[in-house]
Amino acid sequence: MNGISILTVDIVTMAFTRGIMQMMLGGLLLYLGSGRLNDRAAIWWALGFLLNGVSLFAFSFDVPVAWELFRNTLNHLAIGFSSVFFLMGFWQFGQQSIKPWLLVLLIVFPAISIVAWEVLWPNARFRVLTTASGQVVYLLALQHALASPLRTELARIFRRLRYAVIIYLVIFIWSYAGLIEILPTTARQSLDYHRSIFTIASLLFMLTLAVGCLALKFASLAARNSDLAMRDWLTGLLNRRGFFNQIESGNQANKDSSSISLLAIDIDHFKKINDLEGHAAGDLVLKRFAALLKTFDNDNRLIARMGGEEFLVTLYDSSEAEALALAEDIRRQVEQSKVLLSNQKTIQFTISIGVYQLGQHEKIEQGLTQADEALYKAKRQGRNQVVLASNI
Ligand code: GH3
Ligand code: MG
Ligand code: MG
Repeated sequence: MNGISILTVDIVTMAFTRGIMQMMLGGLLLYLGSGRLNDRAAIWWALGFLLNGVSLFAFSFDVPVAWELFRNTLNHLAIGFSSVFFLMGFWQFGQQSIKPWLLVLLIVFPAISIVAWEVLWPNARFRVLTTASGQVVYLLALQHALASPLRTELARIFRRLRYAVIIYLVIFIWSYAGLIEILPTTARQSLDYHRSIFTIASLLFMLTLAVGCLALKFASLAARNSDLAMRDWLTGLLNRRGFFNQIESGNQANKDSSSISLLAIDIDHFKKINDLEGHAAGDLVLKRFAALLKTFDNDNRLIARMGGEEFLVTLYDSSEAEALALAEDIRRQVEQSKVLLSNQKTIQFTISIGVYQLGQHEKIEQGLTQADEALYKAKRQGRNQVVLASNI
C-alpha cells in the first residue's frame, strides 16, 4: 500500500457492519421500551436505529442500475425519517413539546434532494449539499433538545450527549465542506482523508448515541425505582425514607435551621374507623386527608406520611406563628370535611397536631421528638386541637 492510509476498510464493509450494529442496538432499545414498561421514547430511538441500520445494510448490497434510483430514494428517506424518530425520542424523554414543522423539514430535505438533483437535474454535488444541510438542521435541533434541564441524574447524560452532538456537528460540516466535490455514498473508490475522518466520526457518534440512549433508559428506570422507594404507595406523599432523603439531599439542606417548623399530625381514633367501617374505609380516609394536605404544599414545605396515620408537615422560612396558623387551618378544614364511603355513608374525623419551631443548629430528629411530645399533649387534652411545643 502506498502512503499513509487511515482506514483500510472500504465504505461498503463499513456500512454493512454499521447497519448490523445499529439494527442490534435498535432491537435492544425496542425490547427495553416495549411490554409492561411501554416507554415511548425508547421505541422512537429504536425506530431511529433500526431504520438507519436497515438503510445502511441495504446500501451495502449491489443492485442493478435500474434499481439504483429506488435504493437511493429509500436511503435518503431513511436518513430523514430516522432523524425524525431520534428527535421524537428525545422530545418525548425530555417531556418537551413536539415541533411538527421541524419534522416536516427533515423529510422535505432528503425528498427534495432526491427529486431535484437525482431525477430532474442530476447533480451529485447539489444532492450531497441538500442532504447534508438537512442533517445539519437535524443535529442543531438535537443539541437544542439536549440543552433542556432534566432531573439531575439524567441531566448529566443529556449534557454529555449534547457535547457529542456538537463535536459531531463540527466534524460533519468540516468533512462535507471538503467532500462536496465527490460522490457521497455511491462512490466506491478508496477513502480519502475527509472521508476517513467522517466515517470514523459517524461510527463513534452512532455508538455514543446508542450508549447515551441506553444510559438514559437505565438511569430513568433507576430514578423511577428510587422515587417508588421514597413515596408512600397509598397516598403518594413522601414516606419516612423519602422525608429523610429530602432533608439530607434536598435543596433545603443549607437553609437556616432556626426558620424551620414541624407539624406532627395524627388522626384521632383512627383505629375506630378501621374497626367500625372496615380497613378500606380507613384507607380512603388516609387518601382524603393526604389530598387535603397536598393543597397546602408549596416549594417551602415538605409533606410526608411518616407511618400509619401519622403525617408531618415541614415548613421552611416560616415563623412559629405562621406554623401555628397553618396547623389550625388544617385542623379546622379536616373537622369540617366529610368522607363519603363506598356504601354511601359519610363519616367525619378529626386530627391532633403538635407544632415545634427548631432552635438554632437544632437537628430535625431532635425537633421531631419535640413535635411528637406536643402531639401527645394534644391527645391527652382531648384531641382535635393544636399544641405548640414551647407552651408545654
Ligand atoms: P389516637 O387518637 O390516640 O391516635 O388513636 P388511634 O386509634 O388513631 O391510634 P392507634 O395508634 O391506636 O391506631 C392506629 C391505627 O391505624 C392502627 C392501624 O391498624 C391503623 N393503620 C395503620 N396504617 C394503616 C393503613 O395504611 N390503612 C388503614 N386502614 N389503617 C392503618
Ligand atoms: Mg391516631
Ligand atoms: Mg398514631
